[in-house]
Amino acid sequence: MDAELIESFLKNNPKARRAKEGVIIDTDNGFLHLRGAIKTSDYEGLGEDATFFAPFCSVADIKKINSPKTASDFLLQLRAESIVDNPRLNRVFLARKGNKTNWSLEKYYLDRKREETYLSNLSKGNYEKLKSIPSGSVYLDGANAICTKTKAGNIIAISEPLEYFLYFMNIFFYGEDFGIKDEDTQASFRIAQRIMAGHESFDFDIDPRGTLPEHIHGWMKSITDLQYQFILGHEYSHHLLGHVKDSNLRTDSLSSFMAMHEGKHTIQHYKYSHKLEYDADWYSIKNIKGNSKFKDDLSKAAFLTLMYLETSRIVLDYTNPRRTNQVSSHPDPSSRIYKIRKKLNNKYGFSKDQLENNLGYLKDYTEQFISKYLVFNFDSFEEYGSHYLPSYKTRLLNDRVDY
Ligand SMILES: [Zn+2]
Repeated sequence: MDAELIESFLKNNPKARRAKEGVIIDTDNGFLHLRGAIKTSDYEGLGEDATFFAPFCSVADIKKINSPKTASDFLLQLRAESIVDNPRLNRVFLARKGNKTNWSLEKYYLDRKREETYLSNLSKGNYEKLKSIPSGSVYLDGANAICTKTKAGNIIAISEPLEYFLYFMNIFFYGEDFGIKDEDTQASFRIAQRIMAGHESFDFDIDPRGTLPEHIHGWMKSITDLQYQFILGHEYSHHLLGHVKDSNLRTDSLSSFMAMHEGKHTIQHYKYSHKLEYDADWYSIKNIKGNSKFKDDLSKAAFLTLMYLETSRIVLDYTNPRRTNQVSSHPDPSSRIYKIRKKLNNKYGFSKDQLENNLGYLKDYTEQFISKYLVFNFDSFEEYGSHYLPSYKTRLLNDRVDY
């Protein structure tokens, strides 16, 4: 919102005050937050939904979203649809956009460093098969990653909340090595589990849960990036192994993947089966050629990812026991860990003993989390909002006023 417009609101309306973004106006029915204004003339002929996409999309983006032609357009459409109906994500993307005048959602997602690192470690043949598959982060609800078929080819989407889950689990798991206090590693575990259960609001970049010293954050992020690459490799493998064919497609409403989305769009993805999941895990690592350091790092990242997923499986089974039926088509994370360990050369990743010890530790910790924290703090755990790392969050911010 430009400064002139803000000034005129403040001048003409005594009940208006400045917000971090735009102005807040007190009304008899609560307050109204005006974040910006768009010129409708810029969006003429682009359909009635165009103005909803306008705050975080360029006109070129909107044209592609309206009538996607290439597989990349379909990925862009998925990205935009995941944001448009979620007011908090709207604000996150407004913050990411900042003052950039030539912003576009497509451009925002152009950075593909992690994709390129993974792809550059494949055989030439697999590289050629995958290099043009559009893939990357999408603000999917919960911890999903999908390889899905569109009219123009397969696309891969990895949920951004899943990355946050991994990041906070890394702080929990490795924090002590960096001198992070128990109360903070405990909070980090709680935040991770809340993300997985859908209770943590999607506004990490505008309301950081705690700002770690740069070197610690950088280390945690680099481990998270490797875990992302294992998941990416898993989805690439679904593509390479031909799991995404018409015969094993089923159609789900997009709303099952996205927060607060009740669109009429549908999405197709393969029917899950244990065998396909085990294979995708294995090929994600197996396909790495010629770089043993990367293969070792990726194997460790795979084991960590699955160990972390095991903790949230235990928590979710406790808080929502009926869900077991819904996901029984997915193998449990510990079976996936041992399947990989059996096939993988012993020089890569963690040893079977290390895996058993770590899984044992994580299971014990998770069970204590349930019996000592969760049962007494159910409301606080399930309340939608934000939890923080106490030592790294010096001042709590006021929603909308400060961010
Ligand atoms: Zn899979």
